[in-house]
Amino acid sequence: MPYALPKLPYAYTELEPHVDAQTMEIHHAKHHQAYIEKLNAAVAGTEWEKMDVEELLKNFSNVPDDKKTAVKNHGGGHANHSLFWTILSPKGGGDPTGDLKIAIDSAFESVQDFKVKFSEKATLQFGSGWAWLVVKDGKLELLSMPNQDSPLMDGKTPILGLDVWEHAYYLRYQNKRPEYIAAFWKLVNWPEVERRFEIAMK
Ligand code: MN
Repeated sequence: MPYALPKLPYAYTELEPHVDAQTMEIHHAKHHQAYIEKLNAAVAGTEWEKMDVEELLKNFSNVPDDKKTAVKNHGGGHANHSLFWTILSPKGGGDPTGDLKIAIDSAFESVQDFKVKFSEKATLQFGSGWAWLVVKDGKLELLSMPNQDSPLMDGKTPILGLDVWEHAYYLRYQNKRPEYIAAFWKLVNWPEVERRFEIAMK
C-alpha cells in the first residue's frame, strides 16, 4: 500500500487568521504531497513500503544505504507533517491539562516557561527545521532538528512539533518567524498532544 496524503481534520480556511488558507493549501496539497510521492518512489517494491511511516523511521538504521537519504528527507517529511496537522485545531490554544501539565510543570517549571523555551528552540533553529517536544525514556525533552529529520530516528517520540520551514509561514509572516510562533500557540490542540503523551508513556 503506497503512502497517502492524510485528510486534514479541518478546512484550509479554518486556521485563519493565524495560518492563512493559501499557506495551508500549498503546505498540505503540494509540500506534504511531494514528500509522499518521493517516499513512495524510493521504497516502491521493497519490504519497507509495507511499514507505517513511524515504524520505517524507528528502523532507520536498518534502511539500505542507498535509500537512507530519501527515507530521512521524505519519510521524515511525511511523518512530521502528518503529526503537525493533528496537533493544530481551529478550537486550539490555551494550556495543557492532566498528566501532561504535571509532566511539563515538573520538567520546565511551568507551562509558561515551557512555551518560552519551546519558542526559543523554534526561533533559534537556523534555516529549515522543526522544534519538538518529545518523550524519551518516560521523560519530556525539548529539541530542534534541521530539515525533515525525525525524532523517531533517535528513539524519541514526538508529541508536539512546530514546522519552521519558511514554506510554513512566509506568505503571511514573511521574515517574522517569532510572530508565526506566537500565533502557533493559539492553535495547539492540547487534547491531541495529551493523547500522544499518554501513549508515549505506556
Ligand atoms: Mn512543512
